[in-house]
Amino acid sequence: MTNASNPSNPSNPSNPLSRRPLSPHWQPDPRLRPDSRAGGSPGRAAPAAEAGPKIAEPLAPILPPATIGILGGGQLGRMLGLAARELGYRVLVLDPDPDCPAAAIADRVELGAYHDVDAALRLAQRADVITYELEHVALALVDAVAAAGRPVRPGRLALQVTQDRVLERQFLERAGAPVAPYRVVVDQADLAAAAFRLDLPLRLKAPTGGYDGRSQVRIAAVGELTNAIDLLGRPGGERLLLEKELPFEMELSVVVARDLDGTTAAYPVGRNVHDQGILVESAAPAPIDPGVSAKAQALAVHVAEEIGLVGVMAAELFLMADGGLVVNELAPRVHNSGHWTIEAALTSQFEQHVRAICGLPLGRAELRSPAATVNLLGTGHRRRARLVGIEDALRTPDLHLHLYDKREVFERRKMGHVTALGGTVDEALERARAGRAALTWTGES
Ligand code: ADP
Ligand code: MG
Repeated sequence: MTNASNPSNPSNPSNPLSRRPLSPHWQPDPRLRPDSRAGGSPGRAAPAAEAGPKIAEPLAPILPPATIGILGGGQLGRMLGLAARELGYRVLVLDPDPDCPAAAIADRVELGAYHDVDAALRLAQRADVITYELEHVALALVDAVAAAGRPVRPGRLALQVTQDRVLERQFLERAGAPVAPYRVVVDQADLAAAAFRLDLPLRLKAPTGGYDGRSQVRIAAVGELTNAIDLLGRPGGERLLLEKELPFEMELSVVVARDLDGTTAAYPVGRNVHDQGILVESAAPAPIDPGVSAKAQALAVHVAEEIGLVGVMAAELFLMADGGLVVNELAPRVHNSGHWTIEAALTSQFEQHVRAICGLPLGRAELRSPAATVNLLGTGHRRRARLVGIEDALRTPDLHLHLYDKREVFERRKMGHVTALGGTVDEALERARAGRAALTWTGES
């Protein structure tokens, strides 16, 4: 893993491992003030981000049986914790729900909200390194943990940038990554003027708190401009991201890992299918030209370097008809679109994240086999979760079932996933879909 033999490096994208010195961390432009209209994109700019406390990062490896503290105990925390346990680490989780999916695999759940600084400090006292499984964790909490002398990885900047869609767009623009044309708007007058410039159809997105297609509104006709801000249901005066809806050919994502030395490993590009904003299928390798694939990996690696990532990050991309790529969203954590790496990659995204945050060398990210993941989304009204058809699903060749042990099921809740391997990606998808079709949540309304 040297510079010369290096891969997902923009100069040599064919090899998925690369090493580059840490780049200076990007900080939001200090000229950007809450009421300024200056900035990379016309429209109101985001609030300037304050620099976090300067903490010296310990570079020595954190070896098992050290303790990893995970902020968030959902399914990502559960799968991350399982990988950590395999390596011999101990696992603590911060979550408001004692029955959260990660509870069963954690040594201990520290009960507290994702902005509960005291609970996070209690977790930090017992942990050697802290990470997060969701980006909706308060920055104040991360700062408090870092000030208490515990490394927080992937890091503050990655969290700050990705928890605010406006900052994320500005960061990406400055990093030279292509994004959809956008404006920052606050009120109806802004919205009308920006819509006129960008042209329909548009997406109006709240800056924070969005996931699985929530906190965004599609605007396809002029008449829909009137109540779009109300439909978003956010406090007045908040900066909102208005962006052009792009007629992409395909949605792709690249999961990329970066270790403490700056070595990177990009996974093969996956193709994602969303239904009303929620991921339903992810398959790899994506059916795209190898040149596009190398470009997508190089783009993800570049962004990971610019954001000073330590850990795993997913870059969601749109592939345009002309072969161009646009970055839609970043997630500085393990990601739903990388679940197939558990069975199909030489190192799963979960193990890779654990290796990176603990200062260990990265594993290889190549595919063992074409693979497809289909999410098991809940259906119907909220009720006790019971799944039937498991035996039938497991008769499907090369199919693996993952259930997150969520106590209640409801419409579109992510309850689990199936990953199937196949001789081709189409065969893997067929198998995963067949497995999914065999499964039903009982008591549906
Ligand atoms: P979330 O945080 O909910 O994942 P995203 O911004 O990724 O939010 O939006 C969810 C999905 O909505 C995307 O995966 C894509 O299918 C669609 N989408 C979002 N923004 C755009 C856009 N500008 N153009 C076209 N489709 C979009
Ligand atoms: Mg997304």
